[in-house]
Amino acid sequence: MQESSLKRLSRFVFTYWPFLLLSTFAALFYVVFNSASVWVTATMINNILIDFNDMLVDNKRLLSLNELSMNDRLKLYSNSILLKDTAIDTVSTVCAALIFIFAAKNISLYIKNISLSVVQYKLIRDLRNRLYAHFHHLSLSYFNKNKSGKLTSVLVSDVDNIKNSLTQIFQKLFVEPLNIVFLISLLFIISKKLAVIALLIIPISGLIIFSVASSIRRRAERGQAQLAGITSIITETISSIRIVKAFATKFFEINRFAKETQKYYKLMLRKDRLSFISSPISETLAASIASVLLWVGARDVLVNQSITSEDFLRFILLLFSLFRPLKSLGNVVNQLQNGLASADRIFAIMDTKSDINDIENPYNISDLNEKISFNNVSFSYEKNDKKVLDNISFEIKKGEVIALVGPSGAGKSTLVDLLPRFYDASGGSIEIDNKNLKEIKLNSLRSLMGIVTQETLLFDDSIRGNIAYGAETVSDKKIEKAAIAANAHEFILNLPDGYNTIIGENGVSLSGGQKQRIAIARAIVNNPPILILDEATSSLDSESEKHVQLAIENLMNERTVVVIAHRLSTVHNANKILVIDDGKIVQKGNHKELVSTNGLYKELHKMQFQT
Ligand code: ATP
Repeated sequence: MQESSLKRLSRFVFTYWPFLLLSTFAALFYVVFNSASVWVTATMINNILIDFNDMLVDNKRLLSLNELSMNDRLKLYSNSILLKDTAIDTVSTVCAALIFIFAAKNISLYIKNISLSVVQYKLIRDLRNRLYAHFHHLSLSYFNKNKSGKLTSVLVSDVDNIKNSLTQIFQKLFVEPLNIVFLISLLFIISKKLAVIALLIIPISGLIIFSVASSIRRRAERGQAQLAGITSIITETISSIRIVKAFATKFFEINRFAKETQKYYKLMLRKDRLSFISSPISETLAASIASVLLWVGARDVLVNQSITSEDFLRFILLLFSLFRPLKSLGNVVNQLQNGLASADRIFAIMDTKSDINDIENPYNISDLNEKISFNNVSFSYEKNDKKVLDNISFEIKKGEVIALVGPSGAGKSTLVDLLPRFYDASGGSIEIDNKNLKEIKLNSLRSLMGIVTQETLLFDDSIRGNIAYGAETVSDKKIEKAAIAANAHEFILNLPDGYNTIIGENGVSLSGGQKQRIAIARAIVNNPPILILDEATSSLDSESEKHVQLAIENLMNERTVVVIAHRLSTVHNANKILVIDDGKIVQKGNHKELVSTNGLYKELHKMQFQT
């Protein structure tokens, strides 16, 4: 699983290859200039410390040699640029060279970093866009199972997490290994013997430092957890302080708290003991390495004269530059795992397929010509759950108004959710003009329907934008017509900027009834032949109620309507009322018929509609 996430993530990252290539070249230049800066610094120090004539003599010696080692060649090359006739001229050239090298090194570093930033930010932009687009392809049942908090955290935190760990990984896995290889090669070029000794000691001391550091980290994490435990005791007891007092358990609570703080004290002290000792350990280890090398190197310089003091100086400087990249490679594995865990969560969502899809070559429909029919429809939210709808059959003829009534939890909302295929029926079939819903192109099916739900969601946009929602091409005339039909035109004109008034969080706030009328206008702006209405149960004042009622009555003309009815006028106007109870149709008929028959409708009517 992890490996495949790594591969997939890499595939994503490599789509930005031009920037990666640029970054790689810049990294290479950085590494070369970085080593050159150490090299020339050694030349500079050497130049100041030893007699200039000795340098000229040494250069002559090099020039006279028949067989040149790599180190000799490099020195000859750098001498050819840096070594001048006089000491002071040489110092000037070295100074100029140092300025050039440091400038070049840092420009390369900048180019490397900025091109990697481009890759990272492009990556998170594209990952977020893909993930967000994928959310819109998923069916409602997915959102029932996965809470919005979790999905938001993947979209925001996990994507960010990938960026953060990529920053680390790129820096470390990209540049540092190059740097290390380059520096170690130079060490070998200067002195094989010293390089071998150094490479034997460094991993051992590295291991010691690494294990101390990870032990500190573990303790710090445990300390964090312990602190969280302490905080929860505090909030727990403070919020239930009445109970603590009532049960006279204050000493019990004080003891419990003291035990936790004692644990925290011990943990943190142990952590500090380790962390305060880690720096002396690493410093002593570094000093020991340096001393061993100095001892061996100094013998080679002074006694055996097998290495020049300039080479030795350069070796030590290069060796010290090796420590930082080595150290930073230390916890790269942790960061990689952290990023991959986030990648796993992201790819898990991307891999989820919607359970509501178009078949191959679906029908495209543009109108309702005859009827909608439900044939023995059953439905349950989860495979083996109780049936929420059980063997439902009925027909809606074009132009009819069908009202659904029934107690709370009877299945009315579920029933209307099957029409736009928010969910697919588990058994039976639903047909529009004798075509199974599943064979109709989802977009064409949904564009036949205007839907008004109980909660009216308004966007932080103008009234016009809210009514046209998503359809930028809707003409002003159409918007106004919809608003008139929704009985909203008048109040809109009375708003400060009319149709351009911004509503929602940052704008004018509307009353419940006004919001509903905007939602109704939105549902009908494209003049859909089928209207699905879930009348709001929330109580509106009688004035608003009247306006909304009027709007709904307007809508019912010339349209096929399925309405979950909570208003008396709605049931009166319906051609057919379906009484639903516990997932079944228990009564069918018009208001007159049903109210004169003993049954659920009569009871509900008494409770719900007569006040
Ligand atoms: P109300 O008038 O209160 O809105 P309703 O008649 O519209 O009720 P539904 O919302 O369709 O009833 O719910 C029918 C049954 O399905 C209820 O038992 C409800 O608990 C269950 N239910 C509704 N939505 C889900 C869901 N997303 N997942 C699982 N069960 C659900």
